[in-house]
Amino acid sequence: MTTDLGTPGASAASTGARTVAPTGLTDEERLLRDTTREFAAREIAPGAAERDEEERYDRTIFTRMGELGLTAVPFPESVGGAGFGYRAWTLVMEEVAYADMAMAVSLSVHILAQYSVVTWGTPEQRAWWLPDMLSGEKLGAFALTEPQAGSDASSLRLRAEPVGPADAPTGYRLTGTKIWITNGIEAERYLVFATVDPSAGARGITAFLVEAGTPGFTFGRRERKLGIRSDTASELIFEGAEVPVGNRLGEEGQGYKIALSALGEGRISIAAACVGLAQSALDAAARYLTERSAFGGPLSDQQGLRFMLAEMAQKIASARALTRTAAEMKDRGENIAEASSLAKWTASDAAMSVTTDAVQLFGGSGYSREFPVERMMRDAKGAQIYEGTNQIHRLIVADHLLQRIGRQG
Ligand SMILES: Cc1cc2nc3c(=O)[nH]c(=O)nc-3n(C[C@H](O)[C@H](O)[C@H](O)COP(=O)(O)OP(=O)(O)OC[C@H]3O[C@@H](n4cnc5c(N)ncnc54)[C@H](O)[C@@H]3O)c2cc1C
Repeated sequence: MTTDLGTPGASAASTGARTVAPTGLTDEERLLRDTTREFAAREIAPGAAERDEEERYDRTIFTRMGELGLTAVPFPESVGGAGFGYRAWTLVMEEVAYADMAMAVSLSVHILAQYSVVTWGTPEQRAWWLPDMLSGEKLGAFALTEPQAGSDASSLRLRAEPVGPADAPTGYRLTGTKIWITNGIEAERYLVFATVDPSAGARGITAFLVEAGTPGFTFGRRERKLGIRSDTASELIFEGAEVPVGNRLGEEGQGYKIALSALGEGRISIAAACVGLAQSALDAAARYLTERSAFGGPLSDQQGLRFMLAEMAQKIASARALTRTAAEMKDRGENIAEASSLAKWTASDAAMSVTTDAVQLFGGSGYSREFPVERMMRDAKGAQIYEGTNQIHRLIVADHLLQRIGRQG
């Protein structure tokens, strides 16, 4: 299949083969991947540059992903999901990010906001929260970060004051501010982490399900970002917003555990998205080198540039393999804390490196907003920061290895 990526303003869509593409997929997984690839090339990629330029979230694309069933892919059929699991989910993330990283991040966070309810919710909470989100009618957000609590999420301060008797509250009043919340002003459903006891650190953190429109819950400033600019990230402001006790997810004090388990899942999603983004940049660069002539032939004849392409492919293949390992561990119910950190760290570094090289291989055109690779490079950077910075992933991996040899620091 040919594409026009070397042409100014062209989209990043391609249905071409991928570097060491996953093998051993079931027929259903292949169909899911191919359907997503075709949909993303047709409906997501064409407007990606324009949406980025205008910093505009296109809700109709999210709605279409819902109609296609993409918003339910990893979850079990017992809760209304599509029953595919996480290996299949990584295929979807890769294909969506190949077309547009911003839309992939939005979808990833939407899945994150459902995951905790699938895992920790009561039957009543699942019946309330999930159907409209699995179908893509309502968009979700995951609200953990605060102005003074990012990597050190256990120090969050958003206060949840019990309403009614202390031993049997009827509800909670939420007061405080969240920042950098993806899907921010666009979403209808927010998973919000607050503390019932600021002096208790992680042990006070409690999770709440909050709907847009709850009195006392409003939005502050929208972040002006380097990349994934069509996806919104905003401040959430809570001024005594009251939610009934039935909106508390899990018990008081279980919120930190809920957040960490969700982030383990989210890191697999983001790793897969980074693989798709990097592959998109590599394919664009490889095509450009075959189309651009200099010194008497196509640039792809230059051995130094061929080496660069090969090294980009090597990074993508390594990241894809680690991501798949983490996803398969998740599907088997194994502990994924270390594997998902390794996958996210490796894949986001691969995406940063590969997209930067793609800009280099495009020469001056790479630095122009008329071509897609500068956007890909900007889109890659955030993935080294959100869902745990890559410094934090080094800490997690080191903790695990020291625990294994019995020398926890
Ligand atoms: C595009 C984008 C989307 C986001 N979406 C969401 C969202 O949907 N929901 C949400 O809750 N949050 C979201 N975030 C916030 C994100 O999770 C935080 O930015 C991230 O966790 C880092 O926190 P921080 O910005 O406070 O940086 P800090 O924690 O202040 O870190 C600053 C620097 O110090 C390093 N550092 C910190 N502690 C250590 C340590 N112990 N050892 C070594 N290095 C350390 C960090 O790696 C970083 O380099 C998003 C952020 C971005 C950029």
